[in-house]
Amino acid sequence: MNRTPPSDPSQVALRTLLAQVRAYIEYQQSSGVEAFPRTTGSVFPVAVSPVAGSGHAVPVQASASQAAPSPGTPQSAPPHTATHVAPVATDLFVLPGVQQAGTLGALREEIGDCRRCKLWSGRTHIVFGVGNPQARLMFVGEGPGRDEDLQAEPFVGRAGQLLTEIITKGMKMRREDVYIANVIKCRPPQNRNPEPDEIAACQPFLLRQIELIRPQVLVALGTFAAQTLLGSRVPISRLRGHWYDYHGVKLMPTLHPAYLLRNPNDKKLVWADIKMVLSELER
Ligand code: SF4
Repeated sequence: MNRTPPSDPSQVALRTLLAQVRAYIEYQQSSGVEAFPRTTGSVFPVAVSPVAGSGHAVPVQASASQAAPSPGTPQSAPPHTATHVAPVATDLFVLPGVQQAGTLGALREEIGDCRRCKLWSGRTHIVFGVGNPQARLMFVGEGPGRDEDLQAEPFVGRAGQLLTEIITKGMKMRREDVYIANVIKCRPPQNRNPEPDEIAACQPFLLRQIELIRPQVLVALGTFAAQTLLGSRVPISRLRGHWYDYHGVKLMPTLHPAYLLRNPNDKKLVWADIKMVLSELER
């Protein structure tokens, strides 16, 4: 049968979500899982909305699968418009042990030698996160690269060095004062973008990290992290520079340091975003 792709954004979101659910279930079945626990909700009551007065229509609760072209790459931007609303797939797969983890250490123990998605087979280390468990500022990137995989720490390669400079030289903070994590905890092969089932499997860990740290400000680094956290397909070029409410935490999307390495002229955009973050932290 010749199927015409849906043009309605909500139908696109629904189809994407169903594909995500199917891929996740098939993978779990292939790993020997026979049933899923019944859940009563997500780690957070899922709702993402623009900060009042920002004047921006923000897509809410879209599928995490709609993430990104290349990490942190902004795209040319038509006028900002609202898109669609759809549930986040992690709602379906909340893991009771993850929800019960009361500290970051307990959460790391719960993750264990995780094989909940296919990325386990290519990793050297799980890259859980690093920093102050009571940090007021938390950065979220995409996933580990080669250096991070080898050292079991996020943002330690060239892009990580630039992020460290932003924190230390730009923000006059210490790297150990903030918390740094990724959406995905294991390195995808050849640094490809994470796939929907991988995001669905791993995202509960990040959500619990955010809930435990409860930072005052979240900074989403690059297209992938911003679109995943906001459940949006809006390009980073239009998301950045504006505040969003992420379950009660103020979220600022900005460009990924890896993008800045390739496009140093855009550092001024990140600095503008970081100045907004600093002013929020000083309030
Ligand atoms: S990426 Fe996340 S869900 Fe997948 S194996 Fe690693 S820790 Fe587990």
